[in-house]
Amino acid sequence: MPSLSKILLPIAAPCPADVSAADAVRRLAASGAEMLLIEKGDVVVGLFSHREALAVYGDGAGPVEKYMRRPIPGRNLADSMEAGAEIIYREDTPYVILTEDEGPLFRKTSRPVGLVDAFDILAEIGKTTTDTASNKVFTGRKDLGLSVPVSPCQRACPIHQDIAAYVDYVSQGRYLDSWLVIHETNPFPSMLGRLCNHPCETDCKRGWVQGPENAVSIKSLKRFATDYAWARRMKISYQMAPENGKRVAVVGSGCAGLTAAQDLRLMGYAVDLYEREAKLGGLLSASIPHFRFELPQLEWEIQMIIDTGVNVLLNKNVGKDVKLEQLLADYDSVFVSVGMMTGRILPVPGSDLPEVISAMEFLRIRSYDIVPDNFPKGGDVVVIGGGAVATDAAQTSIKTGARKVWMVSIEPADRLPAFGNELVEAREIGLQLHTGVIVNAIKADSRGHVSGVEFIRVDESKLQFDPESGKLLINSVQKLPGTEHVIPCRYAIFASGQIMDFPQDQGVPLTPRKLIDANTGGYTSVSKLFAGGDCVQGPSFIVDAVAWGHRAARSINEFLGASVPRDAKPLTVIETTDDHREADYYLREEPPILPAEKRMDMSPVELPWNDEQAITAALRCFQCDTVHHVDESTCILCGACDDVCPEKALDVVVSGEPRDTSSGGFVEICNTVLGEDFGGKSGKILVNYDRCTNCRICEDHCPVNCITFQRVRFRDDTMQMIPLTPVAAPARASK
Ligand SMILES: Cc1cc2nc3c(=O)[nH]c(=O)nc-3n(C[C@H](O)[C@H](O)[C@H](O)COP(=O)(O)OP(=O)(O)OC[C@H]3O[C@@H](n4cnc5c(N)ncnc54)[C@H](O)[C@@H]3O)c2cc1C
Ligand code: SF4
Ligand code: SF4
Repeated sequence: MPSLSKILLPIAAPCPADVSAADAVRRLAASGAEMLLIEKGDVVVGLFSHREALAVYGDGAGPVEKYMRRPIPGRNLADSMEAGAEIIYREDTPYVILTEDEGPLFRKTSRPVGLVDAFDILAEIGKTTTDTASNKVFTGRKDLGLSVPVSPCQRACPIHQDIAAYVDYVSQGRYLDSWLVIHETNPFPSMLGRLCNHPCETDCKRGWVQGPENAVSIKSLKRFATDYAWARRMKISYQMAPENGKRVAVVGSGCAGLTAAQDLRLMGYAVDLYEREAKLGGLLSASIPHFRFELPQLEWEIQMIIDTGVNVLLNKNVGKDVKLEQLLADYDSVFVSVGMMTGRILPVPGSDLPEVISAMEFLRIRSYDIVPDNFPKGGDVVVIGGGAVATDAAQTSIKTGARKVWMVSIEPADRLPAFGNELVEAREIGLQLHTGVIVNAIKADSRGHVSGVEFIRVDESKLQFDPESGKLLINSVQKLPGTEHVIPCRYAIFASGQIMDFPQDQGVPLTPRKLIDANTGGYTSVSKLFAGGDCVQGPSFIVDAVAWGHRAARSINEFLGASVPRDAKPLTVIETTDDHREADYYLREEPPILPAEKRMDMSPVELPWNDEQAITAALRCFQCDTVHHVDESTCILCGACDDVCPEKALDVVVSGEPRDTSSGGFVEICNTVLGEDFGGKSGKILVNYDRCTNCRICEDHCPVNCITFQRVRFRDDTMQMIPLTPVAAPARASK
């Protein structure tokens, strides 16, 4: 990891604290630097930038000390970028002064040599400008004259998608722009637009105001924009970094592996992707049943990744066909993202009968459009398990022609880990639930074929659940002897957990839970070896695996000595946004699904929205990334905005005047000193963006019209949309 010296910004010659403000403005202009370092004796006491200079124009009197920004924290020139990021978060500062050591050991002194910008640190360590940043980090983007908060949904999203922007673009009818924004961090919007567990919606401000069931339909809007781009046969063309001569092997082509492969290609690495299946996509294509998404759209997204120049090696089982040791010798780095594709079958009597299968294997075979051997079309099936995988196996069994399908769980019906909507859908097409029981044995007929599954009741009053995850604590299960009973069936599917089955003789470090031992950046204790996705985290969600892919690619890039992931920095874009007050009248709407009688085969069940539905849903977004822009040369600190704000989100603080500061706001949107006409008073406006709903009543009531609303976003301009197939030139009419 390079040191902070790499992004050092020069400061002009030090400026004594007692020079006049007007003189400091002249010195700053003559220096051509971003700021002056204000010193008293040898001590740095503050900074004076163009922003502070503006206040001088409005007033002009007094020494520079009166206008300078408070002293800011320092770091040594040789400190790491991470150390720089740490101090930005801790001290809530937009800049850090860099110092250099002088003098012999034990009598060392340090002198300031420049400063670094928070934005540059984040860009350098390969985070997007929003990655893990709190609101506070951006309060310092005063060089733009704006504060840049991160919206709650974006903070909650594991891949920090710029949700407010892409939702807003849908509301404006800019559907392709929306799709492009989504692709900045999300290579699988067709999947995540239908299947994401959407932590963003859980934390959406619209949900805080109108109740959690009324959060903005972020997931479905993503699907809408993606459907539009798909219908128009668009693809993304990436500006690639020059080839850097280094090679990386990616093992496993699930969403973690594919994401890492794409990121690494864009950074200039040669990437070989090893996959043991006959197709790419991992669980996306080889497990999640096809009625839950549009397979052609997934294939389109995977192809866009491969088109960046990823070299694909299918049917290559690493550990068997090629040893990991060999890959570590042949490549500069190896990323292992082998998932947890093997299902667990509980070792009860009869579990080795031919009609017993794991849900993972059942779904894998069905994903190739093959009906597994022994599957009883027209016969009954029992699925053992109460989670999302069990629901998928049960629905797939019904759609494959089973007569009656039972889903059987230890948990009572109201504590099932399956997603509620999927359970409702499954029950509508005939799924039978049997809860509060544990499997005892698989029963066979006289010819050695499955004839039923024996269960025993558990004491439901004794069951305990983990307060955080809501998962059943298996130690709390107590069987009730004498309650044994059999559900007759001809096929039994175990949906009772997944296993990481990467061969253990390959030298991969494992945790006690038999997952790969890696840190959140994907580093393992083996040099050159990185790992991520389900095989490290345990069974999780698509969006988590995508986040692993991004993080691992950044770590590999860092490990191989490169500094900036892509040679281009994001482009800063400032946009004005519309006012959506009418949206308060709309409630959330879910996308429709096919009626039950049409859901009996593997066709996708979720129907698309039309433009009106999508735009209405998008208008409900508060655009939490849109912030006040106050013209400080016009603001008279009258307090009208503070008085009218219905959310108590804003405080006008005037020095020397006792004013209510109950908003809890810390984002400074105005810091001004008024001229003599207004008694020379000085003050600030502070906003609490967790309260502000962008209603813009403050804008309406400002008597001097100094408030407008703007969005600042950091656009990835290395991406372009192009037609998937060349568009034929229009035919000319012959004369
Ligand atoms: C039935 C089911 C339904 C799900 N539904 C959802 C959902 O609706 N929403 C959601 O967010 N998540 C869902 N998930 C979870 C989600 O699919 C996973 O969290 C995600 O796919 C994990 O991605 P991954 O890249 O870590 O691994 P995987 O997708 O498992 O990919 C691992 C890849 O590695 C390959 N591989 C394994 N071993 C080797 C080897 N030795 N050599 C070469 N290649 C190897 C595998 O063949 C596979 O292609 C579901 C999971 C299942 C099982
Ligand atoms: S209102 Fe919009 S920007 Fe705010 S959290 Fe919800 S989706 Fe995100
Ligand atoms: S936009 Fe509305 S909620 Fe936000 S500060 Fe202005 S008046 Fe208050």
